[in-house]
Amino acid sequence: MNEFQLIERFFCRPAADTILGVGDDAAIIRPSPGCDLHLSADMLVAGRHFLPDTDPRALGHKALAVNLSDMAAMGARPRWVLLSLALPASDETWLAQFAEGLFTLAAEHEVSLIGGDTTSGPLTLSVTIIGETLSGQALRRDAARAGDDIWFSGEVGMAALALKNGLTIPADIAAECKQRLDRPTPRVALGRALLPLARACLDVSDGVCGDLSHILQRSQVGATLWFEALPAHPWLAARRDAYQDCLLAGGDDYELLFTADVSQRAAIEQAARQCGVAVTRIGVINAGSGLRVLDGQGAAMTVDRKGYDHFGDS
Ligand code: ADP
Ligand code: MG
Repeated sequence: MNEFQLIERFFCRPAADTILGVGDDAAIIRPSPGCDLHLSADMLVAGRHFLPDTDPRALGHKALAVNLSDMAAMGARPRWVLLSLALPASDETWLAQFAEGLFTLAAEHEVSLIGGDTTSGPLTLSVTIIGETLSGQALRRDAARAGDDIWFSGEVGMAALALKNGLTIPADIAAECKQRLDRPTPRVALGRALLPLARACLDVSDGVCGDLSHILQRSQVGATLWFEALPAHPWLAARRDAYQDCLLAGGDDYELLFTADVSQRAAIEQAARQCGVAVTRIGVINAGSGLRVLDGQGAAMTVDRKGYDHFGDS
C-alpha cells in the first residue's frame, strides 16, 4: 500500500458542507455568512502524550477530541478538520482502528475531514480544526472580570491519576481513570451554550492551577480557588489531600474552566443541565494578580506544581 492508497482507503470519506475535500492540493470551504472562523491545532506524540501501544481506536478518538475541546473552549461550532500523520509503518489493522475512532467522534459532532498530510516517521498525530461562531462572539481567555464566579465542568483529576505509577488503586477505579485519560469527552455543546452566558473560558489540559493562571494573566486579574470545592469522582474526593496534585495540577481532563458574572448562575446551571454535564463553582476572580488556593478552613495552601510544561523540569 503506497501513501496515496493509504489516504484513499482510510481517510477519504464524503465531506459534508465542503466545496472540495481530500484529493486536491488544498481543500476549499465556505464559511457560513456572518461567521468568524476559529482555527486551532493540537499534536500528540508517541512517548510524550501517549504510549506507543495505546489502543489505536482510543488514539483516533483522542487526536480529534483534544481539538474539539479547543473549539468548545471558544464557544465555537467545530466544522472541519485536517489530519497530519507520521507513521512508523503502514499497518492496516492499526490504521483501520485509528480511523474508526476518529470518524466515530467526527460523526457525533458533524465534523468533516477535508485534508491533511501523511509521511513515515516516529508516530505523531496532528489535527488542525476549524470552527465557527457568529462574528464577534467568542469565549476568550482575556475576558474575565473581578467579581466573576469561576466554574468547572464535570470532574477533575481522574486522567492524572491514571498516569501515577506505583499506586495501588482498585481495578474498577483504575479502569475509570484510564477511560478518562484515553477517551476524553469534549464539552462542545456546553461551550456553545455558554457563549452568551460566560466571559472567559479555556479547556483544562495542563491542570486547573496552570490553566486558570492563563486566564488571570490574559485578563490581568487575580483569583481565589477553593480546594474543597473542586468537583471530583467520589473515590478521589475521599482522598482529596493525598491526591492534591491530581486535583490542582493534573492535566488531560479536557473539562471547561470558565468565568461568568454572578447574575448568570441560574442560566448557567440550566444550560449545563440541558447539555447533560454538571458544573460547579470553584472560586472567584478578584482585582489584582496571582492565584490563591484556600483549603477547607480558609487557609492559604502552598501549591508546588503549577501545571504541565513540556519544556519545564517538573
Ligand atoms: P501533496 O502532494 O500536494 O502534498 P499529499 O500527497 O500530501 O498532497 O496529499 C494528497 C491529498 O490527500 C491532499 O488532498 C491531502 O489534503 C490529503 N491527505 C493527505 N494525508 C491525509 C490524511 N492523513 N487525512 C486526510 N487527508 C489527507
Ligand atoms: Mg502535501
